[in-house]
Amino acid sequence: MRAVESFVAGTWVAGSGGQPVHDAVTGEMIASVSSDGVDLGAAHAFARDIAGPALRGLTFHDRAAILRALGKALLTDTDELYVLSHSTGATRSDAAIDVDGGAGALLAYSGIGRRELPNHTVWVDGDVEKLSRDGSFLGQHIITPRHGVALQINAFNFPTWGMLEKFAPAFLAGVPSIVKPATPTAYVTEVVVRTIIDSGLLPEGSLQFVAGSVAGLIDLLDEQDTLSFTGSAATARVLRGHAAVLDRGVRFSAEADSLNAAVLAPAAGPDTDEFGLFVDEIVNEMTAKAGQKCTAVRRVIVPTRHAGAVEEALVERLRTVTVGDPSAPDTEMGALVGLGQRDDVRDAVDRVGGVRVFDTCEFVGVDPERGAFMAPTLLRATDAASSLAHVVEPFGPVATLMTYDTLDEAVDLVAKGRGSLVASVYGPDLGETAAMTIGIAPHHGRVHTIDASSAAASTGHGSPLPQLVHGGPGRAGGGEELGGLRSVLHYMQRTAVQGSPDLLTAVTGTWVDGAVRRDKGHPFTLYFDELEVGDCLDTGPRVITLDDIEHFAHFTGDLFYAHMDEEAARASPIFEGRVAHGYLVLSMAAGLFVWPDPGPVLANYGVDNLRFATPTYPGTEIRVIFTCKEKSLRAGAGYGEVRWDTKVVDQDGNVLASYDVLTMVAEKEPA
Ligand code: NAP
Repeated sequence: MRAVESFVAGTWVAGSGGQPVHDAVTGEMIASVSSDGVDLGAAHAFARDIAGPALRGLTFHDRAAILRALGKALLTDTDELYVLSHSTGATRSDAAIDVDGGAGALLAYSGIGRRELPNHTVWVDGDVEKLSRDGSFLGQHIITPRHGVALQINAFNFPTWGMLEKFAPAFLAGVPSIVKPATPTAYVTEVVVRTIIDSGLLPEGSLQFVAGSVAGLIDLLDEQDTLSFTGSAATARVLRGHAAVLDRGVRFSAEADSLNAAVLAPAAGPDTDEFGLFVDEIVNEMTAKAGQKCTAVRRVIVPTRHAGAVEEALVERLRTVTVGDPSAPDTEMGALVGLGQRDDVRDAVDRVGGVRVFDTCEFVGVDPERGAFMAPTLLRATDAASSLAHVVEPFGPVATLMTYDTLDEAVDLVAKGRGSLVASVYGPDLGETAAMTIGIAPHHGRVHTIDASSAAASTGHGSPLPQLVHGGPGRAGGGEELGGLRSVLHYMQRTAVQGSPDLLTAVTGTWVDGAVRRDKGHPFTLYFDELEVGDCLDTGPRVITLDDIEHFAHFTGDLFYAHMDEEAARASPIFEGRVAHGYLVLSMAAGLFVWPDPGPVLANYGVDNLRFATPTYPGTEIRVIFTCKEKSLRAGAGYGEVRWDTKVVDQDGNVLASYDVLTMVAEKEPA
């Protein structure tokens, strides 16, 4: 037996004494877990004083690059973790969900950071707000990392993914994490943390790890810190009422238990593809991780007229499930995490009540007295509306069948879970499934609606995805995790900054209308490292003639009446006569601002935010006001992306078109 060590202030240290942890399969004592004597104050100080400033010194893209390297490093050798995971009761495919899924979350957040955040330390939120007539006083929301720590308390069922899906957004935000795994599987998390620390990829202190109680640490948290929790509703309640949250303003988020439903729509009779897909998904949800998934289907809600067929099909499938040694390749369902957990689940099954439709099986290659094995258990509610399946969570391979007669009744049954992480709807009739989806959406963080056309590509009822929100209202904890940038925001502060255009430009690194502009010669002759935000070009004029419009129309084939037919154009409520094509204006603008010779500008890869503000009539003299708005270096590529604020104006200064031109500009001296 070994003591699981904590990693605090750069050092691995074991607590004294310790709570014993048993192998889920053999019952053997394999580890002890304690944080007694571990200096939790040092962990808090180390994160705040050493790691926080270092992380905040990196741009979002720097952090994204580290997450990518880390995700790849974790995926290079997963075998040790798979083997270790067997002791938690996990089969190889259960372990893959945990380990590969965790590394996948790092890679996904790397991509999100690279694509959706700036290569900067400040995240600009929304548009500039004009607060004065002359434009000299503006407002801009910005988002910056909080100067605290992210304390993350996780449940036992996903010792790797549970940690990494919280760590990734916190790291991307620029906030150091202290992770606390659940005691029964802390020995797996310890190995993952050792791999991460040994990789040397992380700035010091950005990930610390406490095995055992973190009570003393919660006492130190304040308004710059966040506390993210995954686990039971009972523990969530305790933490939500902690003085740190109530009195000291710690931002708190909970992912708690959830009585997730799957609904078979009325049109999904036994002869439909959706019926078979539904049955397969229920069996998968009951048996994957031995039902110890927060997203697992607990309530199976089916039309009364199909209930007999569903029950028969489920029993037939459950009979074929091989339950036993999780390390054996044929095993489909392993053990629960421990004997105590099995006792809790058995007790919950008794409390749910109803009819036991299926609850026995053979346990292959194991001693079910020593290991925490349990048969998949299917219950049938005798009265759907009053079933305790809407109240009690058996956190194991257990689901309850219940019936409905109308779609409204089905929505009401689903809602009796009082807020869930996810629900599935299966059916071939879009009228039914769309109505169900909308009806149950307010009660869920995610709704997974499947018909035969989407089933093969479906990511599954039980899989939270980095791009999509994981969390749910009410009983599910009220928190939101994942969901792309939504979870990064959880660790950051949104601030409305008011000031001059120059102040906003200095704070955000993005040129704001009204801020200083500099003419250093044609900006297309400047390399990425020479260019500064605010560098500009004001072009000479060009008159757009009717001949130009005719020529453009026939050349492109765009003969829209507003360009070609004076009378029809006049008759429209928008125009006073024939107008130039918006794309002609853009093309002529490009002719005015482009530098023709080969040089630092490599390509124009698009435009953003294009608006044609004023119709351009023949005879209008146009010119372009062109300003370097934002720079983002693409590390290691030899070039960066440059965004140019572009305004096409007429002889009186009226804006005809405004947009951002997007270019790639070479570095003079690539880093
Ligand atoms: P749990 O008993 O609530 O424990 C969860 C975590 O909280 C563990 O790390 C535990 O540490 C810690 N903890 C317990 N009491 C604490 C306290 N007073 N102060 C601070 N930390 C405390 O839940 P579990 O048995 O591990 O997990 C099963 C439950 O989690 C199920 O109800 C399941 O539905 C839920 N869950 C929800 C999600 C989700 O995303 N919504 C995901 C997975 C699981 P120790 O282990 O050291 O006590």
